[in-house]
Amino acid sequence: MHIHTVLSPCGDLSMSPAAIIKKAKSVGLDIIGICDHNSTLNAQLTYELGKQEGLYVLLGAEVTSKEDVHSLCFMPTIEKL
Ligand SMILES: [Zn+2]
Repeated sequence: MHIHTVLSPCGDLSMSPAAIIKKAKSVGLDIIGICDHNSTLNAQLTYELGKQEGLYVLLGAEVTSKEDVHSLCFMPTIEKL
């Protein structure tokens, strides 16, 4: 349900928003969630590229708490994200 982009430490340079949308479409996905670690900077671009290709992109982030718990957080709009 969640995919990281190049902005996450576990991502790599091949994980651009455009590459993620292309891969998701190639394997037949209709919906993906973008959740970088503690960043939302690629969410809007990924959402817009997905919309152009008929792929719904959930807007989110993987937030790390002070206890080092990772939580997936999704918001309904880029403004709320
Ligand atoms: Zn993750």
